Amino acid sequence: MISDRILKKLSHIVGLDYLTTRESDLCEFSTDATKLSFKPDAIAFPANSREIAQILLLANEEYFPVVPRGKGSGKSGGALPVEGGLVLAMDRFDRILEIDPDNLIAKVEPAVITASFQKEVEKYDLYYPPDPASTEISTIGGNVAECAGGLKAVKYGVTRDYVLGLAVVLPTGEIIKTGVETPKGVVGYDLTRLIVGSEGTLAVITQITLRLIPRPATSTTLLAFFPDAAAAVRAVSRIIRSGVVPTAMEFMDRLCMDCVREDMPTEIPSDCNALLLLEIDGEESSVTSMADKVKDICAGSEAIHVRAASNKEEAESLWEARRNVSPSVYKLRPHKVSEDIVVPRTRMAELVSFLKRLANKYGLPMPAYGHAGDGNVHVNIMFDKGIPQEARSVDEAIKELFRKVIDMNGTISGEHGIGITKAPYIEMEISRPALQLMVRLKKAFDPKGILNPGKIFPYKS
Ligand SMILES: Cc1cc2nc3c(=O)[nH]c(=O)nc-3n(C[C@H](O)[C@H](O)[C@H](O)COP(=O)(O)OP(=O)(O)OC[C@H]3O[C@@H](n4cnc5c(N)ncnc54)[C@H](O)[C@@H]3O)c2cc1C
Repeated sequence: MISDRILKKLSHIVGLDYLTTRESDLCEFSTDATKLSFKPDAIAFPANSREIAQILLLANEEYFPVVPRGKGSGKSGGALPVEGGLVLAMDRFDRILEIDPDNLIAKVEPAVITASFQKEVEKYDLYYPPDPASTEISTIGGNVAECAGGLKAVKYGVTRDYVLGLAVVLPTGEIIKTGVETPKGVVGYDLTRLIVGSEGTLAVITQITLRLIPRPATSTTLLAFFPDAAAAVRAVSRIIRSGVVPTAMEFMDRLCMDCVREDMPTEIPSDCNALLLLEIDGEESSVTSMADKVKDICAGSEAIHVRAASNKEEAESLWEARRNVSPSVYKLRPHKVSEDIVVPRTRMAELVSFLKRLANKYGLPMPAYGHAGDGNVHVNIMFDKGIPQEARSVDEAIKELFRKVIDMNGTISGEHGIGITKAPYIEMEISRPALQLMVRLKKAFDPKGILNPGKIFPYKS
């Protein structure tokens, strides 16, 4: 609990206008996309690294938790103040500092919304590919802290692949820079890569140097309906083997399609149980020939129907429908646990069949969609907290799912992070010595454990 005496010190650091304990603010900042809720004692909106350093020094002195927060769209509870304390809202770090078209880099502050940054770099004919489905509602800082993936990872990689360097404040108050501003750099340990994906537990990110690439000249969107997941997955493997790497290859099962039916600009055939939504980009001439190749491969993989979006508007509504899957599955049940497991992409059909059996066994709908090109499937276990039997089944179903995924040489999280929701299961994938090494790293950064405690590890670190 942060006492009035400490609140006074905090308000000296950030100014009275930038510290709040108002009940409505505490409620707003108590939750994220998990819909779980843990109320902080206060929220601070620091203006610069110096203020963050002072806050962290105070937290070490007085021992209270500090939880960095972007826009709270996280799906594993990383920004939730599970032990109370102070939420460090990064909202005022919202400037794009530099776009350098000759060196193909940009410098941004962490609270810049990902989609706004993408639009800005496009003005220079440049491209920032990492594209989580939450691009309009998440920050670059949150993306870096979670190593967000998204729709275009199959061709362009994930956030990590675009972060050249960082400015951060360490939990012990030092302000440091990591990495480089050049395409190459191998001096010392790669602290940048360690901090990317560390879920706000190792450092507070205050500036990010990002790599950019030239903007592809054009793109086209294809839609293919399949009788079942096996046929869709076969098509994905054949496409990749053919030498065409689409920008995105998104999969939806029938339950997901039914949930976004109203957003879809096209009829869904009644015998379709799996859909692939693909984007192909590049030079005009090559896009046309690649799209023809992909259409032929889908048709030869039992597709019921394959077509290209007839114009930009239709393409955009198809992608909008895809982005709407996550909120739309609440039509099936009022609560969900959202997993983002990854399996080798050739084994996705096996996973989808397993999910069907799991859903039948526990009597819970489990709509699945995701990034088929990466084998990254978002499995939503839908339930009603008000029905005790359903609530009890969820944990068992998750354990069974994770066991299967690990047996298939997969991983329990491709992009949403561990946070609190997956912390109880991390030992299913990470061996004890490896986990203990991670705990020691956390201690080296944060000896008193004040930065985002209660995350990632299944026990107090
Ligand atoms: C509809 C929907 C679709 C989504 N689709 C995708 C998807 O396709 N791919 C994907 O990867 N994710 C997806 N997500 C998850 C989420 O949007 C990402 O994890 C995103 O990166 C979180 O950004 P945020 O700004 O909301 O961060 P928050 O939720 O506020 O925080 C996330 C984590 O980052 C830490 N953090 C935030 N800012 C900083 C900072 N400056 N310094 C240090 N740590 C910090 C927090 O402590 C927390 O641990 C989706 C979410 C929703 C709601």
